[in-house]
Amino acid sequence: MTESTLSLPSGDWPELTPGWVWLCGAGPGDPGLLTLHAVNALRQADVIVYDALVAPQILDWARAGTDMIYAGKRGGKPSAKQVDISLRLVDLARAGKRVLRLKGGDPFVFGRGGEEAQTLIQHGVPVRIIPGISAGIGGLAYAGIPVTHRDVNQSVTFVTGHDQRGETPDSLDWDALSRASGVLVIYMGMKHAPVIRSGLLGAGRSEDEPVAIVSQATTPNQKVLETTLGAMLDDIAATKMEPPAIICVGRNVLMRQVLDWQALERGETPRNLDPLGRGKPAEER
Ligand code: SAH
Repeated sequence: MTESTLSLPSGDWPELTPGWVWLCGAGPGDPGLLTLHAVNALRQADVIVYDALVAPQILDWARAGTDMIYAGKRGGKPSAKQVDISLRLVDLARAGKRVLRLKGGDPFVFGRGGEEAQTLIQHGVPVRIIPGISAGIGGLAYAGIPVTHRDVNQSVTFVTGHDQRGETPDSLDWDALSRASGVLVIYMGMKHAPVIRSGLLGAGRSEDEPVAIVSQATTPNQKVLETTLGAMLDDIAATKMEPPAIICVGRNVLMRQVLDWQALERGETPRNLDPLGRGKPAEER
């Protein structure tokens, strides 16, 4: 889609005023998962500072002549330092630009959006926050995995596989995480998958516990691996799953056997209409 064909429904859309920064989620990849506020922002920005996980097609929706500044990690180069990104945003705003800071997923979910917004406000720069669809929810939905299900979990725990220094998540209390909820949704977990696996097994989760890994979710390159805690490392190697990926641990993963809507779209039939073994139709509680 191009600028000319993309229009907002009529309404009172906010104006991106010079000197402001809008901190905006771009969703997990599929441009259709942008919010209308994000589209409104793309139409107005003078400069867009974007991360590695923002799908390139989304940037095509900006006005012609918009300055594009890449602030992510690519080709093995170290990522721009957080302080440099935040201060760059301050400078751009002070120069009277209409600044759009675009981040993958939701800016406040493992995205350092809180830090950037805080820096901006500490420097007197006005900010608007535009949430986005986070990969750990929307990405799983594209794989046919509901992040909650009444028969499985009454809570869900979002976990990051990296600590502040990008090292092994040793600081995580795996016993507590494991006890707290039936479903764990792990971001940035691929590099430390062995630690995550042993942490959960050590905390008493079963080798048979269902695990799904969804890489490049919602994009044309989406790949889904259904495995178990016991087999996950071998299966990741065998299927060459790579980041960015979400790791979901829990029995909700079984629901993909009936809800893999992309397979249905391709003409396949559901593998199992009752994967949780309820023995009665879903509408009967
Ligand atoms: N703010 C983002 C998360 C940023 S952390 C959000 O709300 O989604 C980066 C991690 O997000 C990646 O390592 C990966 O675990 C996950 N991620 C982001 N986009 C993804 C995608 N399209 N498919 C799978 N995982 C994704």
